[in-house]
Amino acid sequence: MAVWKCTNCGATKEGRCKPRKCQECGNTKFEKLESAAKKSKK
Ligand SMILES: [Zn+2]
Repeated sequence: MAVWKCTNCGATKEGRCKPRKCQECGNTKFEKLESAAKKSKK
């Protein structure tokens, strides 16, 4: 399981595949983050 981060608003979503679009802003570009990183918001 990977974590995908919206490059526009920073919203993250877990999933095997890259989301089609961000739920928050509708952006379609995502950055893949480390799946092992389970950091909560600071
Ligand atoms: Zn977004």
